[in-house]
Amino acid sequence: MYKIDHYIGGKNVAATGGRSAPIYDPSTGQVQGEVGLASTDDVDTAVETAAKAFESWSDTGLMKRVSIMFKFRELLEQNRDELCEHIVKEHGKVWDDAMGELTRGFEIVENACGIPEMLKGEFSEQVGSGIDVYNTRQALGVVCSITPFNFPAMVPLWTIPLAIACGNTFILKPSERDPSCANVMARLFSEAGLPDGVFNVVHGDKVAVDHILKHNGIEAVSFVGSTPVAEYIYHTGTANNKRVQALGGAKNHAIIMPDADIDQAVDAMIGAAFGSAGERCMALSVAVAVGDNVADEMITKIKDQAENIKVGCGMSAGNEMGPLITKEHCARVKGLISEGEKDGAKVVLDGRTFEGPDGKEDGYFCGPTILDNVTKDMSVYKEEIFGPVLVVVRVNSYGDAVKLVQDHEYGNGTCIFTREGDIARNFTRKIKVGMVGVNVPLPVPLAFHSFGGWKRSIFGDHHMYGPEGVRFWTKIKTVTSRWPTSIMSGANLSFPSSD
Ligand code: NAD
Repeated sequence: MYKIDHYIGGKNVAATGGRSAPIYDPSTGQVQGEVGLASTDDVDTAVETAAKAFESWSDTGLMKRVSIMFKFRELLEQNRDELCEHIVKEHGKVWDDAMGELTRGFEIVENACGIPEMLKGEFSEQVGSGIDVYNTRQALGVVCSITPFNFPAMVPLWTIPLAIACGNTFILKPSERDPSCANVMARLFSEAGLPDGVFNVVHGDKVAVDHILKHNGIEAVSFVGSTPVAEYIYHTGTANNKRVQALGGAKNHAIIMPDADIDQAVDAMIGAAFGSAGERCMALSVAVAVGDNVADEMITKIKDQAENIKVGCGMSAGNEMGPLITKEHCARVKGLISEGEKDGAKVVLDGRTFEGPDGKEDGYFCGPTILDNVTKDMSVYKEEIFGPVLVVVRVNSYGDAVKLVQDHEYGNGTCIFTREGDIARNFTRKIKVGMVGVNVPLPVPLAFHSFGGWKRSIFGDHHMYGPEGVRFWTKIKTVTSRWPTSIMSGANLSFPSSD
């Protein structure tokens, strides 16, 4: 049993208020640790600490900030195994998948090392007589990020490095289900030389989040999680005059055209539907097969591979898929499969009957599941399942497939499998989704682009990291300056113009 405290002002700080939550090992169902949950006083302490640190951090030279970020990147790599172990033991995903998460997170830190280039302003010389104008982007102040359970390292890293490199001071409120990675990153930041109070971790639940949303000392809130909470965060945060970006849930469709390379599409679908037990916001959870021939061939091939996926504890070598995050979530996923069956979907592969690997029967396991003949009125189609469940919708034409994607409330990611450039181009131009793949199942943008969906997969104007991240974590200032010279003439009361 271990205990996770907050990390405020460069040290571990116990939660006040006496509340805590258990940390489960999802592969056994056993409690392995405990995390202290923040009181409103704890949030106040973190904000005061971060506000104090902002005074000097926002004045720290750009190259000094960069050198700390380089060192942090080096330390992350040196401590990769420790981070990976926390992810696997608390989240449940398998080792290689957790390593992949870390790689994608570290790339954002690498990108943040290039912050001087991204913060370069714009300069216009001689816009009027002796007058120059320039823009700079300045830090906001104390900012906060609230993150979900499904990427305990990568999603926090979507925000922390850029926000801090831009000169802000930071409070992370990670998921209470897998909190350990946040504290390792905090420790590594301190070892990298980040001044105390620049990066703080406050663990907690709705009590902490609600206080963050209303706190006058916090300028901006970034959120990633489920859509109902994202919508609440956006409305509450903006009503309290904060800048807010809130990324929500997803139901990502893959369209498989009759001319697609079916084997390539099947391999891609296996990874994208069942990887991380489907607990990815970019998981491909709906396969839209254009024509019955495509559907029949694809389902046979996906089933052949999916029933051989090795499901078990993430720490055991060779396993390819781990458990779900909680007992309740596992029951919800299985309940939705049953609802789909009741609504008329055909259960081609049934993960509900998976009995759990030896000795781990109390873990929150659900095996890979395939539902065929799903229609758009069914809850398995409408709702984000967030489990290893692939639903197959059969349509007759490309137009019908596109209509499904356009009409769905979510618009995070999508992908089309085709060999036809004409179709692919039409799809990428017209589809109302934020991240689009052409024969690429998980089109997660790299660090130097930006990540985000459309429709009810996001609330707010800015996507995550990349150029959009820099815009979110800074505000623009425009300076117009003229220096006294001997050629200046007298006062002029007319409205300034460039004449
Ligand atoms: P969640 O919404 O339950 O929790 C996210 C965060 O909000 C956590 O830190 C949690 O403590 C806090 N929280 C939960 N309920 C709250 C409430 N009522 N009021 C205030 N705060 C609350 O999400 P989760 O289960 O941790 O993560 C899974 C969800 O996240 C899925 O819907 C998934 O699609 C989504 N997600 C989206 C993206 C994206 O980029 N769009 C990325 C990863 C995950």
